[in-house]
Amino acid sequence: MKRSNFLLSIAAIPITAGLSPISNSLNKFIINNERSKTPMSKFELPSLPYAYDALEPYIDKLTMEIHHDKHHAAYVANFNKALEGTAAEGKTFEEIFKNVSKYPVAVKNNGGGVYNHSMFWTVMKKNGGGAPTGVVADAIKSSFGSFDDFKTAFNTAATTRFGSGWAWLIVNGGKLSIISTPNQDNPLMDNAETKGTPILLLDVWEHAYYLKYQNRRPEYVANFWNVVNWDEVNKRFSAAK
Ligand code: MN
Repeated sequence: MKRSNFLLSIAAIPITAGLSPISNSLNKFIINNERSKTPMSKFELPSLPYAYDALEPYIDKLTMEIHHDKHHAAYVANFNKALEGTAAEGKTFEEIFKNVSKYPVAVKNNGGGVYNHSMFWTVMKKNGGGAPTGVVADAIKSSFGSFDDFKTAFNTAATTRFGSGWAWLIVNGGKLSIISTPNQDNPLMDNAETKGTPILLLDVWEHAYYLKYQNRRPEYVANFWNVVNWDEVNKRFSAAK
C-alpha cells in the first residue's frame, strides 16, 4: 500500500473520545474491528497495517498482495453472504464463534477466515522479531522454560498441523498454551478442542508460503520469528489476562 493511501485509511477511521495518538487509534480500530461491529452492518476487509513488502525477505510482497487482497477479501465477501438470513447476522465475532456449530458451516469457515487473517496481519511488523519483551516474555519463560523452548513447541504445532490450519498461542485463566486448529477454525469457536483468547497465531495454509517456500513449511515457520510484533502480542496478553 502506498503511504498516502495508508494515511487516508487512518483518517477515515471515526475518531471517538479517548483515542489520541494515531498509532493507538489504528490499533484500537483493528482490535475493535475484530471484536465488535455495528449490528446488521457488513464485515469489512481491514487495511494491511504496513506496506505489502514490509515483511521482506521473510514473507514476500506478492504473497502478501494475494493473501490480503484475494484470500482475505474473499473470506470477507463470503462471510457476509453466508450470514444473510441466519440467526448469526448482526452478531459480533465472539457471539458467532461461541455458538458457531449452530450456524451453516460457511459461517464458521468464512468467519474464521476473516477473523484469523485480520488478527494475523497485526502480530507481524517490519523489523519485528527478536526476543519477546514485557509481560509476555515473563509468561513465556515461566510457562515454557525459555524462549527457545517456546519456539520449538510452537514450531512443532505449526509444522505438524496436517493440511491447512493455524498455530496459536492462547491465554486461558492467565495460563499460556500452544495449540493448532484445522482449516479456518480458531480457539474462540465452540468446537475448539482447547479454548482460549488468542494472542499470537501463524497461518500454515500453503497459500501463506508456497510462492516463496514451496513445500518447505518448516523454513517459513522458522522465519516467522523475524517478523513477530511483540508489542502487539503484549497488548493482547494484557487485555486477555
Ligand atoms: Mn491465509
